[in-house]
Amino acid sequence: MSEKFILVGKSLKEIEEFMLNNEQSKFRAKQIYNWLYLKSVKDIDSMTDLSLSTRELLKQKTELCSISIKEKQISKDGTMKFLFELKDGNFAEAVLMRFDNRANLTACISTQVGCPMGCSFCATAKLGFVRNLDTDEIIQQIFLIQADTGLKVTNIVYMGQGEPLLNFDNLINSIKIFREQFQVGARRITVSTCGIIPQINKLAELDFQSTLAISLHAPNQEKRAEIMPVAKKYKFDELISTLKKYTEKTGRRVTVEYVLMKDVNDSLNDAKELALSILKLKSNVNLIVYNQNEKSPYKKPTKEAIQKFKYILEASGKKVTIRLERGADIDAACGQLSSKMKK
Ligand code: SAH
Repeated sequence: MSEKFILVGKSLKEIEEFMLNNEQSKFRAKQIYNWLYLKSVKDIDSMTDLSLSTRELLKQKTELCSISIKEKQISKDGTMKFLFELKDGNFAEAVLMRFDNRANLTACISTQVGCPMGCSFCATAKLGFVRNLDTDEIIQQIFLIQADTGLKVTNIVYMGQGEPLLNFDNLINSIKIFREQFQVGARRITVSTCGIIPQINKLAELDFQSTLAISLHAPNQEKRAEIMPVAKKYKFDELISTLKKYTEKTGRRVTVEYVLMKDVNDSLNDAKELALSILKLKSNVNLIVYNQNEKSPYKKPTKEAIQKFKYILEASGKKVTIRLERGADIDAACGQLSSKMKK
């Protein structure tokens, strides 16, 4: 049996070619394109301005997606977690949430099955690395969230499972498709990395107008290497200087992410040292309160420690936000994505 033509992820040109190869009018392609990217329809039959015969053909020869929603959970706070099943039986997760009560809908998507980085505090790390997601699999997470909820995703953060910069080409392709086809503004897209220096340099060479967030999580090399193995390869000081060059080259501020963990990196000294380390780096700081679950090796900081930490960074001139925990009751919180269902 020949493979079906997967629609979601395809460009207008590719859909046009498909239509022509199937003796269909090329002009129908734009209609299909809009149904896919602007309306995210649930099925072919919902493409109501296509003739019945065209819809029949599409049903025979195409499939909307190569991935499917296997499970969906909704948290008390409204955060939704989606578990996707991939063609090869693997799973990927994404989370849909609201930020700051503004009219936005943020989807946190995955770029890999599992993750190779091995951060000691992260649930995804426990899965190990299975494989990269392809561009379609990245794109389809957003498509399926929109199709399922009937809502338009306004912001996309690459903060789900995996290290986006280790899946570089698919990352860049997917951002292009989100911008051009789903019409999500570049400024509404954030890519988070644990700090793969050569890839950050590569990003700096591109016309990358999205936000780069860096999972720093420690004020110096020694502490960082204890919790993030990547720091053994890409050293703290070199990372900071790479980021400085990045901000100069792109003219864009980076976001420094810092997960606060009790008695690990949440002291006044840690805050002061961090403030110094990033003083000259054009950046905003996002403090993340550590999300604990039964298996977590670390604890969350006290409220007092969080506020003091924030104050010290602010006193150094940084704009600081605290990322509130969302979806904790369904393991959708930051760093909790671990696909309990394994292949
Ligand atoms: N690999 C990329 C993308 C993952 S984003 C990166 O490292 O940035 C997921 C974010 O959640 C990262 O900042 C990660 O360090 C953080 N995180 C992992 N476990 C966490 C936990 N238990 N609580 C809070 N944040 C966590």
